[in-house]
Amino acid sequence: MDIRESYSLKKRNTFGMDVSCACYVEYGSVEELVEFFSSGRQHGLPLPFLHIGGGSNILFTGDFPGTVFHSGIRFISEIRPCGTTAHDADGPGSAAVLVEVGAGTLWDDFCAWCAERGLWGPENLSGIPGETGAAAVQNIGAYGVEFKDVVREVRCFDAVTCSIKTFRQQECKYGYRDSIFKQSAKGRYIVTSVVFGLSTEGGPRLEYGHVKSAVENALSESSQETLTPSLVRSVILGIRDSKLPDPGKTGSAGSFFKNPVVPKIFYEKVEHYAKSKYGQDYEVPHFDAGSGFVKIPAAWLIDQCGWKGYREGNVGVYEKQPLVLVNLTGKALPGEIVALEKKIAASVLNLFGIGLEPEVEHI
Ligand SMILES: Cc1cc2nc3c(=O)[nH]c(=O)nc-3n(C[C@H](O)[C@H](O)[C@H](O)COP(=O)(O)OP(=O)(O)OC[C@H]3O[C@@H](n4cnc5c(N)ncnc54)[C@H](O)[C@@H]3O)c2cc1C
Repeated sequence: MDIRESYSLKKRNTFGMDVSCACYVEYGSVEELVEFFSSGRQHGLPLPFLHIGGGSNILFTGDFPGTVFHSGIRFISEIRPCGTTAHDADGPGSAAVLVEVGAGTLWDDFCAWCAERGLWGPENLSGIPGETGAAAVQNIGAYGVEFKDVVREVRCFDAVTCSIKTFRQQECKYGYRDSIFKQSAKGRYIVTSVVFGLSTEGGPRLEYGHVKSAVENALSESSQETLTPSLVRSVILGIRDSKLPDPGKTGSAGSFFKNPVVPKIFYEKVEHYAKSKYGQDYEVPHFDAGSGFVKIPAAWLIDQCGWKGYREGNVGVYEKQPLVLVNLTGKALPGEIVALEKKIAASVLNLFGIGLEPEVEHI
């Protein structure tokens, strides 16, 4: 157990906010975590408590007065190896391989591990920053696949009862970037590991956007005859590189706002605006969200308000993706990001009457 006082979080959040916490605790195993809490060592530590992963979906709005916990539980291990027949009636789809991954393992290390072994499942989620424990909280998603599609179980430490609890996939109540861990169970459970159901048989999901054509191009340019998870992964990484900032170079937290889901009547107003501006053939990007609701990409709405590439002081809007707010100089203050967030949301509300909600958690 590594416990530090007045700890800088600058390298612990991808926005690069230069803030600190009163106390920082890093643990290396489930046993250490259980021992720490059951012996009462948490009493006396500054409150509140916050568990972070890679800090890639967090905006620290100032110094954190409490204790930040971080997992050093890093491992990837097969618990039902390739080649074993699966009789799984309890998860999404059938899976021949079950793999357990420690919560502190980098998410993309797990994706790379699967691709190297020819295991299908998380390839479309390649390149998403952060750790596996947080991925279970967030229900991360990209290119038509979500975390919920590959997870079987989420193993947690229950800070109230000091015991281990396993959530089956259905119990996690996964929704769009949402889970029980962000709702009723928030703050109570620390994810310690995740069990995934993977497949050795090809099951690429290529329906989203231009993924299919990009994969077909890559296949025809390669010497391979069949599609592999590794090839899909490299295509996804290429698409991401061309659209999103590298967190190692430019501070950001990825998509800053959620895509709003609005009643159809709101969408029709947006459509009317777009057709009168761009002509009757223009198609506003949108997805049917069921029950008379429509999901509109926040990026499109923000772009319509002219924010792409905007710069102000140390902050700005990424020139290739208006949904991403960036720390341009590496010296941005939390207040600068929040001020830009408010201006963007106000302009979208003003033009379309649609309120944007942040996807990034403000701490
Ligand atoms: C450039 C960029 C691109 C991105 N692209 C995508 C994308 O395509 N799709 C997508 O879904 N997201 C994307 N994101 C957002 C982000 O990567 C994900 O939300 C990721 O899962 C956050 O992981 P993290 O480890 O950094 O978690 P943090 O940001 O540190 O934490 C996120 C939440 O999880 C909680 N948490 C963390 N670890 C644990 C734990 N062990 N137990 C309990 N709670 C925990 C935290 O308290 C917090 O509420 C992107 C971010 C960036 C910077």
